[in-house]
Amino acid sequence: MDTESLKSLAWLVVWGGLFYVMMRYGCGAHMMGGHGKHSDAGAAAGNGTKDPVCGMTIDPNHAKAAAVHEGKTYYFCSDTCRKKFELTPANFVRAKSQEAHHA
Ligand SMILES: [Zn+2]
Repeated sequence: MDTESLKSLAWLVVWGGLFYVMMRYGCGAHMMGGHGKHSDAGAAAGNGTKDPVCGMTIDPNHAKAAAVHEGKTYYFCSDTCRKKFELTPANFVRAKSQEAHHA
């Protein structure tokens, strides 16, 4: 083996090592499964609203029931909660706004 081919062999090893490190810790690592955990994070954080009757967090897209009161739409976990709300909406709406007006 002459020196020229030894040199190119050395370069090959250097680049090979760099490539390996990049795959292991760089962009390659992302591809290997860095994104696996993101899938179910959204549900808990949620952009949902609250069921005013039982206080459960409701995703409007998956709400079982909804009612409009004084121009505002309220979402409920079930038809039972909606019925309670429609019987005495003031009970559930005022509970919050009273606290707000207290100060
Ligand atoms: Zn409810």
